[in-house]
Amino acid sequence: MSIAPDCQSYYTATINEPTSYPRLQGDEVADICIIGGGYTGLSSALRLAERGYAVALLESFNIGWGASGRNGGQLLNGLGGRPALRKKYGADIEAFIDRLCWRGNEIVEENIKKYDIECDLKYGHIDCAFKDRQMRDLETEFERFSSLGMGDRFRMVGADEINEHVGTRAYKGGLYNDRDGHLHPLNLCLGEARAATGLGVKIYEQSPVTSIAHGKEPVVHTEHGSVRAKMVILAGNAYHLLEQKQVGGVLFPAGTFIIATEPLDDAMASNVMPSDAAACDVNEMLDYYRLSADKRMLYGGRCNYSGRDPKDIKAAILPRMLRVFPQLKDARIDFQWGGKIGIVINRVPQLGRIGDNVYYAQGYSGHGINQTHIVGEILTDAICGQMEDFDVFAKVKHWKIPAPRWVGNNMVALGMLYYRMKDLL
Ligand SMILES: Cc1cc2nc3c(=O)[nH]c(=O)nc-3n(C[C@H](O)[C@H](O)[C@H](O)COP(=O)(O)OP(=O)(O)OC[C@H]3O[C@@H](n4cnc5c(N)ncnc54)[C@H](O)[C@@H]3O)c2cc1C
Repeated sequence: MSIAPDCQSYYTATINEPTSYPRLQGDEVADICIIGGGYTGLSSALRLAERGYAVALLESFNIGWGASGRNGGQLLNGLGGRPALRKKYGADIEAFIDRLCWRGNEIVEENIKKYDIECDLKYGHIDCAFKDRQMRDLETEFERFSSLGMGDRFRMVGADEINEHVGTRAYKGGLYNDRDGHLHPLNLCLGEARAATGLGVKIYEQSPVTSIAHGKEPVVHTEHGSVRAKMVILAGNAYHLLEQKQVGGVLFPAGTFIIATEPLDDAMASNVMPSDAAACDVNEMLDYYRLSADKRMLYGGRCNYSGRDPKDIKAAILPRMLRVFPQLKDARIDFQWGGKIGIVINRVPQLGRIGDNVYYAQGYSGHGINQTHIVGEILTDAICGQMEDFDVFAKVKHWKIPAPRWVGNNMVALGMLYYRMKDLL
């Protein structure tokens, strides 16, 4: 698989099936042209193809090259920006959020079953608290889920029980649930791409889009060809620089980084993650970790809001891992990599339209496996004429920094210092 050289991850080393989709050469026609081969693009392509649309999808590098093929693999419920949505729409929006917040998990599960995608899906997730105030927040969460009838899937775990899930003394306790889980993110992408092509979607790799010519039927251009379509979906998230007049200055790319140890022996694997759940701490600048299918510790964290990558990812992440799991001090680090997430100030995913027929969706603030799949369904509904859910997001105003991207990123970095201080208190 010729994946771009800056991402030699555990995932690229363990893919099920290398992709070799052609480069776009010449002029094509489709109902819908999708730009970006991550989950937003692929989940939209799959849903649209299921409803009979002719779809062409263009990817700059390879399928899953962006965040979707590099992430922590934590499949987590939720919809970003609850406070901002509540502020705009009032308390009635709670039911809307509660309806959607598990939908992405369900779609991923449906896709895995329906299209026979092997991506190591396992259930179980624990949010871990360092502080009493964080435990109180988790208790509030637990009460909310219980009031929604999900109390049997969630369990508050005290300091005495947390070692059933994570072998560390770092935490006061946590909130465990068996509906979230973890998976091999790149194999999910590749499986969704295979499923989409099986339904007739035309995928083109090594085909960076250079411009969109707007009109009654927009034309999407690459260096070697074009796609004329009735509608376009722009799904490049933190990696694209298209249509900056409309979508520039509202999304801020931030780096987050992962290391993977060598495979741990059975005793060490069950010492560090006895229930094989995925785990996050609940800091704003959170760490996230889990075991891979071959029992490596995959440990991620250190959001970099400046947009710059650290020179040495291992040096940045290893001390964080050893603070939680000192027993891993002799484990060899086999892989280190990073990727870009799209930070949105109010955390509400950005959905919108440029003109009538160019849709965009971006900005999951690091919490994207679930949300991208929700969004793929919402975009498909919108293209089919059901605009209600799409409009809820499209009507939310986003804070725009009308300055070069690095100015915006540095402002966001400053803002995030506030949260880092809050985590320390
Ligand atoms: C290190 C890391 C860890 C993460 N951990 C988690 C996690 O554990 N759980 C979770 O839920 N989320 C996690 N996330 C976030 C999640 O991965 C993203 O929110 C999600 O993958 C975004 O999907 P996307 O399709 O919108 O964007 P991407 O996956 O980034 O895909 C965008 C694609 O568009 C392509 N593209 C850009 N410009 C063009 C162009 N001009 N022409 C053609 N193609 C173009 C890019 O090459 C790229 O492949 C993590 C992200 C990172 C980076």
